[in-house]
Amino acid sequence: MTENSHFDVIVLGGGPAGLTAAIYLSRARLRTLVLTEGTPGGQMTLTHEIANYPGIEKINGYMLGAVMKKQAASFGAVVKGNVEISSFDLEGATKSVTTADGQTYSSDAMILAPGGRSRALGVSDEDTFRGRGISYCATCDGDFFTGKEIVVVGGGNSALGEAVSLTNYATRVTVVHQFDHFQAFEYAVEEAKANSKISFIMSSTIDSFYGNEKLEGVKIRNLLTGDVSDFTTDGVFIFIGYVPNTESLEGLVSLNERGEIITGPDMSTNIEGVYAAGDAAVKRYRQVTTAVADGTVAALAAADYLHSLKRK
Ligand SMILES: Cc1cc2nc3c(=O)[nH]c(=O)nc-3n(C[C@H](O)[C@H](O)[C@H](O)COP(=O)(O)OP(=O)(O)OC[C@H]3O[C@@H](n4cnc5c(N)ncnc54)[C@H](O)[C@@H]3O)c2cc1C
Repeated sequence: MTENSHFDVIVLGGGPAGLTAAIYLSRARLRTLVLTEGTPGGQMTLTHEIANYPGIEKINGYMLGAVMKKQAASFGAVVKGNVEISSFDLEGATKSVTTADGQTYSSDAMILAPGGRSRALGVSDEDTFRGRGISYCATCDGDFFTGKEIVVVGGGNSALGEAVSLTNYATRVTVVHQFDHFQAFEYAVEEAKANSKISFIMSSTIDSFYGNEKLEGVKIRNLLTGDVSDFTTDGVFIFIGYVPNTESLEGLVSLNERGEIITGPDMSTNIEGVYAAGDAAVKRYRQVTTAVADGTVAALAAADYLHSLKRK
């Protein structure tokens, strides 16, 4: 390990949580390295428009990520994208990370911000139409379907809650659910059923998506009869769960039963000097604003921790 591979803080994950942490840390003159799988910007890069980030009326998600990265770099943070992490060592005073290409980086504190991903249906052409009619975020994309007809997939609280909220935009919302009953609280079921814009296709699932430039329809399979029918739609929102990107952290840091990193109010984990931020941490609402808030708190707490080490 060379001298310049040791940093004050390593931030794992370059989404809004990690990049915000890097802005705060590097501005506090702490030597900061951000290592991220994929493109800096994280999930923001998947959406063509972010219209709810305060202070910026509308911005392309990729652009917002690029600006955050530039801002962190302007204060001296080193941001490395498309990095594959092969192992972590979080215990002890010095933390370290080794990448798939054999580089090892060490630090005195670490911030885990690996984000997450929506659970995908895993059916044909889902990737093709992601962001071109298929969405996993009503708060983010509902507005784009104003005056349109859409499908919501799922039968839990979030699917039914989002179906109701999407009626603020769409003229018709069809909920497709695999069972003949919902896995949601009674009040959520009642609210969805009472909404005249919502209809239900039960015991059914999406077999595949089709369209040209944009999504034009779905093939729906009735799970009781096996019949498959075409269903024309402008958009499909999928709410069948969320997966934090914490598989590689299992056994290294405390996770809850959903795989989310458990943190204290200052975003500290169960390991001294290791903090977490953003969508991978335990939380109810996952947005850019909540991620940047976490990144701020984690960075300030990590900076305090480093100062306390110097006082010892
Ligand atoms: C299609 C879409 C549209 C959205 N639109 C909006 C919107 O309009 N407004 C809004 O507020 N929110 C929106 N969101 C939600 C928002 O993007 C997320 O809440 C936010 O990006 C979470 O930030 P994060 O930094 O915690 O994680 P992420 O953005 O997920 O970033 C984490 C990064 O870490 C990388 N990574 C994963 N594992 C590791 C590892 N082991 N080591 C290093 N790096 C790793 C990931 O590849 C990723 O690049 C949208 C989400 C999606 C998917």
